[in-house]
Amino acid sequence: MLIVIIGPPGSGKGTQARRLLAHLGVPHISTGDLLRAAKQSGTELGRQAAKFMDEGRLVPDDLVLAMVAEKLQEPQFDKGGLFDGFPRTIYQAKTLDVSLRERGTPLAMAVELKADEEELTARILKRAAIEKRTDDTPETIKQRMEVYRKQTAPLLDYYRGQGKLVSIDALGTPDEVFSRIRAAIDKRRPA
Ligand code: AMP
Repeated sequence: MLIVIIGPPGSGKGTQARRLLAHLGVPHISTGDLLRAAKQSGTELGRQAAKFMDEGRLVPDDLVLAMVAEKLQEPQFDKGGLFDGFPRTIYQAKTLDVSLRERGTPLAMAVELKADEEELTARILKRAAIEKRTDDTPETIKQRMEVYRKQTAPLLDYYRGQGKLVSIDALGTPDEVFSRIRAAIDKRRPA
């Protein structure tokens, strides 16, 4: 089963993705994690991606798509997987659809973590104060929210049109949110 998880900054995507992996027993692709690792190890990709990431902008589609295509070739993804933070643009979603169709493993569903922007901003700022994350300032959060709204939110209509979108209320404790996601997925999961 192949699933994508979509949500604005602060919606708990990473946390929920990790829980889902354990539940579904499928491998994980987090483009944010892959890009951060590339940046830290100083690869050519990391060097090219760094300036976009530091400015809270999306890394260009061609760089992200090449990275994902390489990862998807690993045999562990033959039976399924969870995409976290990818796709983030309509172009990425369409390209993913084409390559999954070619493999004969179409996407099963897109899970949206849905929450009010102001509540999420407050949540990120609280976390930044506790964890002393100086990169999460009101300005950078605003920029990331705007990128989400303009470039990623259109994916919701795209997947809705395919009958694959499931929207989950992302406010609540991680346990509460996870049980909502699990119920929605189990309902659609092949027996
Ligand atoms: P994340 O941890 O998913 O929030 O990603 C951190 C940063 O990596 C984002 O702000 C983007 O700059 C970049 N990034 C991650 N995934 C993608 C993607 N699918 N397309 C473009 N940029 C991405």
